Amino acid sequence: AETLLAAAGFSGLDQIAHHWGITMVVTQGADGVTLFNTAGESLHLPAVDATVEGTTLGAGDLLMAMTVKGVTEGLSWEQALRSAQQAVVSVLARPDANMAEGNLLDSDLGQVMTLAERDPLTGLLNRRGFERQITIFPDEQTFYVVVIDVDHFKMVNDTYGHDQGDAVLRQLGMILSQSARGYDIFSRWGGEEFVGIIQARTESQALAIAERLRQRVEGATWSIAQRITVSIGVAPLRRPEAFADYLAQADHALYQAKARGRNQVVSAV
Ligand code: GH3
Ligand code: MG
Ligand code: MG
Repeated sequence: AETLLAAAGFSGLDQIAHHWGITMVVTQGADGVTLFNTAGESLHLPAVDATVEGTTLGAGDLLMAMTVKGVTEGLSWEQALRSAQQAVVSVLARPDANMAEGNLLDSDLGQVMTLAERDPLTGLLNRRGFERQITIFPDEQTFYVVVIDVDHFKMVNDTYGHDQGDAVLRQLGMILSQSARGYDIFSRWGGEEFVGIIQARTESQALAIAERLRQRVEGATWSIAQRITVSIGVAPLRRPEAFADYLAQADHALYQAKARGRNQVVSAV
């Protein structure tokens, strides 16, 4: 948490939760547990007194796992956290409770979350992670949807093999994440197609950003002896809740970019 705070210049975890749209459950030992929601609100639950024979090692992990389980089963985060707290206390109260042996490693839980929302090849958000993030954009900014598709990618696979194709996608993912500024996010939508949301004040600024991206791909050095290019469709995201409509517009623009000869940016408007 301290690393995140220092890197992003935030003064509290509540700001991180709000800015990135992350729900955070932060266990604080004897001080209890705090829930930070995506609206920037926090809820503190004090620690529950329990008489424990043996160790409480792993209790925090169990609390996390139970909370996530509750949420996936339809509870609100607060409900899930409260019921998880009760569950942990009742487990700890059992005479045969040995939390150290039943220890769920933090990394296990982290992996579950990562698997659910990240694309394993590129490390970018997958479609599911991306769709969850787009509901939490700040109103005061204007955003554009970009759809990026690799040109003639089938030929790359056919010529150099699937593994080299994968390497190209990985590098492309890196170029995209390194190009992200401010609220920009990029996802691997599927196959060799990437969808992003970029923050821009005007349409021409959005097109300039997309054009820089296109040039960065064109100018990159790849592990294969061939140039890689992308076609990009851009559309304004006027209402995040109607994301699918704007994505369709950007997709249509992408289709035109392909038809006009590829390796170019086309605007939907
Ligand atoms: P266009 O310029 O019209 O986009 O041509 P294209 O060849 O890129 O388009 P097409 O959709 O025909 O081909 C996409 C190819 O991407 C086909 C598929 O085998 C390949 N592909 C999809 N996912 C992956 C992946 O994860 N790894 C690799 N190596 N290839 C993939
Ligand atoms: Mg393609
Ligand atoms: Mg495609």
